[in-house]
Amino acid sequence: PLTTGIVGLPNVGKSTLFNAITKAGAEAANYPFCTIDPNIGVVEVPDHRLQVLANMFQPNRIVPTTFEFVDIAGLVAGASRGEGLGNKFLSHIREVDAIAHVVRCFEDENITHVSGKVDPIRDIETINLELVLADIETVEKRLERTKKNLKSGDKKYQIEYDVLERIHKALQEEKAARSVELDEDEKMIIRDLHLLTMKPVLYVANVSEDEIAEYENNTYVKQVKNFAAQEGAEVIVISAKVESEIAELDGEDRQLFLEELGLKESGLDRLIQAAYRLLGLITYFTAGVQEVRAWTIKKGTKAPQAAGVIHSDFERGFIRAEVVGYEDLLQAGSMNQAKEKGLLRLEGKDYVVQDGDVMHFRFNV
Ligand code: GDP
Repeated sequence: PLTTGIVGLPNVGKSTLFNAITKAGAEAANYPFCTIDPNIGVVEVPDHRLQVLANMFQPNRIVPTTFEFVDIAGLVAGASRGEGLGNKFLSHIREVDAIAHVVRCFEDENITHVSGKVDPIRDIETINLELVLADIETVEKRLERTKKNLKSGDKKYQIEYDVLERIHKALQEEKAARSVELDEDEKMIIRDLHLLTMKPVLYVANVSEDEIAEYENNTYVKQVKNFAAQEGAEVIVISAKVESEIAELDGEDRQLFLEELGLKESGLDRLIQAAYRLLGLITYFTAGVQEVRAWTIKKGTKAPQAAGVIHSDFERGFIRAEVVGYEDLLQAGSMNQAKEKGLLRLEGKDYVVQDGDVMHFRFNV
């Protein structure tokens, strides 16, 4: 599965947030295939459409789709030179598909800031610099090799060389590799480098519990938002402390606590949804009297591969899919009505599954 790594300097609230994630975590019993790794937090993806479908189908159970966060603690300035446990952490970042970068936006005299005072932009730049430095090393190594291969006269090495040079230049200006405009072929060329600054990023501004309801007034948050806007990144404002308290509560208590704080939904829910979008993930549903269930696929996935998420047999023996769009089904009011109105379609192996599609697969065993 695709994962989002939680990174940030020490003492910004990563562990507090990660604890909230694991506490709010998906019922382990529902997901027997998930490995138990203390650094991985499995969360359910909040989706109001599940309850709507459940009201329609009255199933025995409702199963949300899940999503993984990875705790990548311990990144410090100098990591790319092997400072702290530098290289180990960088290699953990290499394995995730997106990055949630936690930034301290709360003042608290009792909690030391690693570099003396709260300054979110300096913090972001400190981490980003480590990632850039690590990438420069990776790119330079590859450039060496490509340079040698150039002598073969094969044109593909010239293309590779040019792409690497463009990325190298950006990195030297302390810009992320993802800021370089590349077409699909060029992206393929550098894919196996797993550059850290190629990964999509969102920023998590951690504010104090007193400020979460009116975080617009927090100057640090404004700074982070301006910074993120320059690179087209999203900012999720949370209070890690509040999230860890929310995670202890369920159902009604949770709703009451949120209302007390003047919040509509938990920050964690917003973070999960933002990370899901950042990874280009969408949800389709299966619905029946047994179960209403959400499934995760990458945007652009075709019907057989979408079926494969449920079971590899579904993909192998795929014949057709019966599909009705979520909105269409809602309007029709029931599956039978949708059928009568001709809203239920039969789609073949080239159908690109859309977010919210309610699917039923036909397959050979
Ligand atoms: P990490 O080193 O990034 O994992 O940071 P921690 O999660 O261990 O947090 C460092 C300290 O900041 C701890 O004492 C937390 O209780 C505190 N902290 C984290 N989030 C908040 C918050 O939203 N408000 C306040 N006041 N303290 C927080």
